Formats: sequence, C-alpha cells, structure tokens
Amino acid sequence: MNKKRESDRAPVLIVTGGSRGIGAAVCREAAQNGYLVVLNYLSNSARAENVAEEVRQQGGHIIAKQADISKEREVTKLFDHASSLQGPISGLVNNAGILEDQMDVVDMTAERIDRIFATNVRGSFLCAREAVRHMAKSRGGQGGAIVNISSAAARLGSPHEYVDYAASKGAIDSMTVGLSKEVAAEGIRVNAVRPGFIDTEMHASGGEPGRLERVRSSIPLGRGGRAEEVASAVAWLLSEKASYCTGAIIDVSGGR
Ligand code: NAP
Repeated sequence: MNKKRESDRAPVLIVTGGSRGIGAAVCREAAQNGYLVVLNYLSNSARAENVAEEVRQQGGHIIAKQADISKEREVTKLFDHASSLQGPISGLVNNAGILEDQMDVVDMTAERIDRIFATNVRGSFLCAREAVRHMAKSRGGQGGAIVNISSAAARLGSPHEYVDYAASKGAIDSMTVGLSKEVAAEGIRVNAVRPGFIDTEMHASGGEPGRLERVRSSIPLGRGGRAEEVASAVAWLLSEKASYCTGAIIDVSGGR
C-alpha cells in the first residue's frame, strides 16, 4: 500500500456513492492509502460529511461533493472540481448504484427500467469517460486506474427480484472489458469487482432489509460480506500491486 502523502501532492481518487456502504468503506481505505479522496454522493449530505469527518480524524484527506451521476452536466462539474485540486486525477471507483422494489420483469414499468439504467449504466459510463479524459497520457494525464463495482447479480440474473438491476451490472462487466482494451495504451487500467450479498442498506431499498438472513444458506462461506471486504479488493486493483491486471472482474461473493 502507498504511504500517507501530504494532500497537496496526493493523487486524487473519485469515489461515487461514498456516503455509505461499500463506497464509504472504499473512501476510508483509499484515504489511509494516501489518496486525496473526492467522496461523491447523491442527496444525503449529512452522511457524506460524517464519513468525511471520520476520515479526517484518522489523518486522511477527503472532500465530499454532491452530484447526480446520471446527469452529464453534474458529472463534468464533479470532475472539473476534482481536477482543480492539487494532485493529478489518478483513479475512479464507479460505485454508485441503485435497485428498486423486488418484482418480476412482467410487472416492470419503462420508467423504472430507465431509472436503473440511468444511474447504474449511463452514470458509470459518464464517470468513466470523464476519468479517461483526465487521466489519458495522450491528453496530458498521468494514467491511472478505474474500478467498476458490478455485482454477482450480473452472473446470476436475480430472477423474481431485480433482473433490471442484474442486467445493468452485466453492462458494467462488458464496459469493463471493452474500455480496458481501449485505454490500456493510455496508461489506464480498468477492472471490476463483483460483490455478492454485502451487509449494507441497499437491501432495504429493494424492500427487504432482512434479505441477507434469508439467503444466508445459499452462500458457500455461510454469511454475508462486509463492505470492508469489498473495499480491500478495490484497493488492490487501484494499487501498483495490480499493475498487470486490466479487464479483470474479481468476485467477492463468498463463493456464490
Ligand atoms: P447503498 O448502501 O445503497 O449506497 C448507495 C450509494 O450510492 C449512496 O452513497 C448514494 O448516495 C449513492 N447514489 C445513489 N444514486 C446516486 C446517483 N445518481 N449519483 C450519485 N450517487 C448516488 O449501496 P451499497 O450496498 O454500498 O452498494 C454500492 C455498490 O455496490 C452499488 O453499485 C451496488 O450495486 C453494488 N453492490 C452491492 C451489493 C450489496 O449486497 N450491498 C452487492 C453487489 C453489488 P446518497 O446516500 O446521497 O443517497
């Protein structure tokens, strides 16, 4: 892991959806590893500021920044802000993602499908595009790393729960593979992590806060994962220790 650096020289890492869950764990670990973290969130400024304050108390450098990643103008403003900081933009963790109430495809409205894809797919594409524009060596950048947060749902399909969400994560896997090949010569590595059932508030968003308990027996390791266990894989992919790794998708799913 990198040593702690002063904020004025620190490489800048943008983490979308950093106000809670996996994104917050990624922010904490990245700040410990010496990044100046730009913690993006959608609406919960109190939670975002809490995470940021906790990181600062541990000696880390972090800035919370609101932006809806599904909106192009907000994404470009987020990256303009990040590029105005002292250090070079060196990484992006495309973490923000949503799901909605569990239901079969037969009952899904077009509006719901659009909402899921707007955040999970369009938002991740827009952030990846901006990261490439800032990090590509041919554009004056210094190279860097993108880590996309996919889901084991991309492999499993999430029948009777959220096939729309699973399909949006399938798109993230394809984007990871394709973009990694496009930008390898620019000094940018692009990888993904596919978490399984992780203990966060996301399951409540799907209408079932106790989902982890219900599915526990289907997980070979016999438990849900912790956000920190996903963050460790992300930190490794961001680091120089993963210097020969691009286009890879790592399952952090307890064997599921
Ligand atoms: P979470 O607890 O629901 O947190 C979601 C985060 O995304 C929040 O910080 C939220 O901000 C932010 N967000 C939502 N929409 C946004 C938008 N349009 N623009 C900017 N930020 C937005 O989620 P999580 O469980 O930590 O999941 C994080 C990622 O891991 C997601 O991509 C998810 O699909 C993936 N994943 C999770 C699991 C799991 O079991 N938890 C499994 C597989 C994959 P606010 O707080 O401001 O609303």
